[in-house]
Formats: sequence, structure tokens, C-alpha cells
Amino acid sequence: MSARRRTPLVCPICGTDLANVRITPLGQVTAGLQWEMHAGRCSEHGWFQTEMISKPPREIFPVSRPGGVARKMSIGGRPVYSFPTVWDSIGGRRPVDPYDPEMWAVDWERMPGREDIVLSNT
Ligand SMILES: [Zn+2]
Repeated sequence: MSARRRTPLVCPICGTDLANVRITPLGQVTAGLQWEMHAGRCSEHGWFQTEMISKPPREIFPVSRPGGVARKMSIGGRPVYSFPTVWDSIGGRRPVDPYDPEMWAVDWERMPGREDIVLSNT
């Protein structure tokens, strides 16, 4: 199985393609699919990371760097350390392509709203 170079992961905030994409095998396999960590950087909003463990990710994390610690973002005055995905919202009720970009999208109906985002490095 060759390593993927492209990721369905986009910036959770502005939706643009990420630069410096890194896809790292996590060393486990489920149903013939290698588990992977996907990370990439938005020039405006920083690094984001998530794990594909044979299904689309449930959450996308803002991080200080690939494999680094979670970074706090502030949305509507509340600290946010992760973004729930559409896949998490549908709760695995149907089989999907684990790389389906629609499943990797942030479910903003469960978030206060991207217009309230305040970037923070703390
Ligand atoms: Zn962005």
C-alpha cells in the first residue's frame, strides 16, 4: 500500500487547501486500510491535524505543529480545542468512503459560528 499524498483535510475555518500536507502512517490497519495522521497548514489559520482510522475523522484539531500539542482557538468567547466533523454528526450510521471530503467537513451547526473565531496562540 503506497502512502497517500493528498488529503481531504482542508482548513476548518476558511475551507482552503492546506499547505505542507503530511500524511503519516500510524502503524495499524483495519479492513485493509492503513491508519494515518493527516496534517497541514493554512497560511492564515495555522496547523490542523486529524487521524483517519479506517473511517473519516470525528474531530479535527488545531495544533502547534504536526504531531504537536493542541492549540486553543476561541469561538464566541469559548475555548475550542477541536472541530466536530459531519461524519461524527451522522454517527457512523452508513458505510462511507473514509476519504470522502464531505465527511471530513466541519459541522458548523454544532459550533457557535466561524465569524466569532478569535485566533489565539496560547
Ligand atoms: Zn484557514
